[in-house]
Order: sequence, then structure tokens, then C-alpha cells
Amino acid sequence: MPPLVRTAVSVGAHFSGLSRLVAARYAGRGMIFALHSVVDDNTFYPDYTLRCPTGRLEWALQWLRDEGLDFVSLDEAIRRLADGNPRPFACFTLDDGYADNLTRALPVMERFAAPFTVFVTTGMVTREIDGWWLGLAALVRSYDRIALPSCSLTFECPDLPRKRRAFKTIESMVHRDFTLLPHLREAIANSRIDCRALVDREALSESQLRRLSCHPLVTIGGHTTTHRNLAEAPAPAVQWEMAENRRFLQGITGQPVDHFAYPFGHEQACGEREAQICRAVGFRTAVTTRAGALFAEHAHDLHALPRLHLAGNDTASTLRCKVDGVYRAIHSRFGDPVARM
Ligand SMILES: [Zn+2]
Repeated sequence: MPPLVRTAVSVGAHFSGLSRLVAARYAGRGMIFALHSVVDDNTFYPDYTLRCPTGRLEWALQWLRDEGLDFVSLDEAIRRLADGNPRPFACFTLDDGYADNLTRALPVMERFAAPFTVFVTTGMVTREIDGWWLGLAALVRSYDRIALPSCSLTFECPDLPRKRRAFKTIESMVHRDFTLLPHLREAIANSRIDCRALVDREALSESQLRRLSCHPLVTIGGHTTTHRNLAEAPAPAVQWEMAENRRFLQGITGQPVDHFAYPFGHEQACGEREAQICRAVGFRTAVTTRAGALFAEHAHDLHALPRLHLAGNDTASTLRCKVDGVYRAIHSRFGDPVARM
């Protein structure tokens, strides 16, 4: 759904009371929120979809608390799905392994006593990941015009709103069609942007990961070795991406790693085959980015748990719609409330 349409739907649903009607069928028992990086409030980020300013995170947590949601860990969420505890709950997850999860997110989560899971890609910690999305953000930030001549695409981005739009457009295009990635990498390299240096600046180090893993509010989960689109990989490679990442994280943290997040998480990036492999590798649960709430049915489908994006630009209206299940209702065309693989 385009952002403007989404906003119009949210505000309309909120103020018409439609959202509360939808909630009766689509709100579910609780929800898992997905975030990535948590940043300071005053810096401009073209990659705003991946960045939640600390002030907005605090505001969202307060809003959710005022709604009467319990903040629980993933383990507790699974327990509640199975034991029928009727209290509504929210889980929080942060993907990829940004250092700011320790330096910026943790202090906010501590103030709310909110448990959270950090899904860490091995390549972030080892600095071996292809951080193209960080390169894309740097490209959009530095130039007023982005050209991908080898696939005849040009994006004008001379001001801040258009820089955000250009980032979102190009990122979405790559997520839909990963054959664009070599063209984007070429443009990034031609602009002398060093993705490795960007990853080094932004990613958790081994010692930071260890510190985070020791915190009582924090659970560390898997997010593959290289953050590739698993649906496009042969089965043995998928198995390696999951098992090697799990082994790596368990080695650093000295703790079992039971939870997993599929990179990208949408329909083109993970399905039933990836869920089967994930189960076989030994992960107890896995989360997607299919929008939806958690229902009792998910207790029997623990490797296809839906999540809701918690964004830096969320408002009371968009959060209301997320909590009430409006996005799932629209996505399923008012069909099955339970998001599955
Ligand atoms: Zn990710």
C-alpha cells in the first residue's frame, strides 16, 4: 500500500470507529513488532524505513502501554498462545544487528521494562555482509540524482523528502527483484562509497553482542549468515545460512539461540520450504514480515509468525490500525485473520 493511501486509510479507520469493529476479528491475542536501527531524534536519515528515532520509540511504547498491552519476550508470547492467557501483549524485535540496539534502544526499553529480541546476521558482526542498503542511503544522501544506467533508471533527489522517497523506491524495487542489486552495487562503487566502512560503523561488534546478550531483557536470535533472500537459494545453502549463523551466535553468547527471523520476511523471500529447514536446524520459532497479529493457531505454526513494522513515522492512527488488525484485514481482503506462510 503506498504511504499516502496507508495514512488516509489509517486516519479514516481510526476516526470512523471502523478500526474497533475490525479488531473484533483481526486483533488477535498479541503482536510482534519489527524494528531495525534506533537513532537520535535530530539527524536526517534517507533510510527512514529502517530507523526509529528514540523519541518516537518512547512515544510508541507509552501509547501501547496506555492501551493496556503487556510487554513480553518471545518465549512468554509463545507460552501465552498455548496456555490461553487472555491479557493482550506486545513483543519487540530488532533485525540485523545494529550497534545502536545496545546504545540507543536498550536504555529506552529498560525504562519500560520491555523485553526484546535482536536478530543478528553473522556478516554484520564479522563485517563481511554486503551492506548495500547502507550504501544506497549514503548514495541518496550525497547526490541529487541517482542513475542506474545499465537498467535505464534515474531518480531525482535534490531535497530531503525526495531523498526519502528515492531510498524507499529503490529499496522496494530491489526487494521485489534482486537482479537489480548488481546495478545498484555498481552505482555505489562508482561513487566511491565504501559499504564495508559503513557496516563497520553501524554494526554490533563481538563484544557489544556479548554485552547485549547478557542483559536480562534481551534475547539474541538468528538472521542468517549473509542476509540473502533464502527463497532464491538452493536448500543446502539455506540450511547453511541458518545452521552456521546459529552456531556462530551460540559461540559468542554462550547461550542457546532458539528464535529466527527470515531476511526480508515477505512472500518472495520465505515460504514453507524455509520454515521446514528452519525447524530442522533447531530453531523453535521464526518470524516473517507478513503483517498480522498472533492467534492461538500460531502455537501450532511457530515458524511462520507474522510481525508488524514499528516505524519512526507511526502516529496514533497508524498504531491504532496495527493493534486492531486493520492492515491484515485489508491485506487479506477481509479474509482469514491468521497470517500464514
Ligand atoms: Zn534483516
